[in-house]
Amino acid sequence: MRILVQKFGGTSVADIDRLNMVREKVTAALDRGYKVVVVLSARAGKTNKLLAQAARWADDPDLAEVDSLLSTGEQASVTLFSMLLKGHGIKARSVLGWQIPITTDNAFGAARIRSIDGDHLRKMLETYDVLVVAGFQGVTEDGRITTLGRGGSDTSAVALAAALGSCECEIYTDVDGVYTTDPNMCSTARKLDRICYDEMLEMASMGAKVLQIRSVEFAKKYNVPVHVRSTFNNN
Ligand code: ADP
Ligand code: ASP
Ligand code: MG
Repeated sequence: MRILVQKFGGTSVADIDRLNMVREKVTAALDRGYKVVVVLSARAGKTNKLLAQAARWADDPDLAEVDSLLSTGEQASVTLFSMLLKGHGIKARSVLGWQIPITTDNAFGAARIRSIDGDHLRKMLETYDVLVVAGFQGVTEDGRITTLGRGGSDTSAVALAAALGSCECEIYTDVDGVYTTDPNMCSTARKLDRICYDEMLEMASMGAKVLQIRSVEFAKKYNVPVHVRSTFNNN
């Protein structure tokens, strides 16, 4: 079974037109003979809105409850996208962090992944061609929902690729690669054909949010090849 992990960020899932572009990327991978694990973020702005809502309800909101609330952003993305895929005749289902499970420590708001049941995912891929997995979320050993820190869906995707073994990971976003600096801030930014894990770690630690730093740490540790691409072109 050849498996590809494709992650799509908040701007890529913002509305139904964009989700149809995501569907095209997934269909192209199916046509190339892959089973696909799609990892989705919440739609752009959703996580911030949920955080603001929590702040209105309590002066010092319980961190475990905040994580449970934040996880609903990704839950909405994966359930809607699974419906869209099924409506186009694709054998797909949504999967939440606790359903795999993706087990984390209990550092609510910035949890670290401890383990992922890759065998369970492979078993599900015998029945489904596409698993649409909620990014950014996990579950503690005693069953509480956690989130992985802002931008954490990148880490979900790379960690899933590592857990599935010899699996590549495509990160689809609103820029078509890693640049020497933020291309939205600096017109002379150049796109890099390749970048090694250590250099990418350095860029991420200096604020290049195109990849969450922990995703690069995972990629380095488990030797996962990561491709950064745009949802909106074929570069
Ligand atoms: P997503 O919601 O898809 O995860 P992010 O907003 O988290 O997307 O990351 C993509 C953004 O990262 C780009 O829009 C870009 O402005 C920014 N960025 C910062 N540094 C870089 C860089 N060196 N190369 C590419 N993009 C960068
Ligand atoms: N939705 C989360 C965030 O906005 C995770 C992600 O997008 O990667 O940070
Ligand atoms: Mg991001």
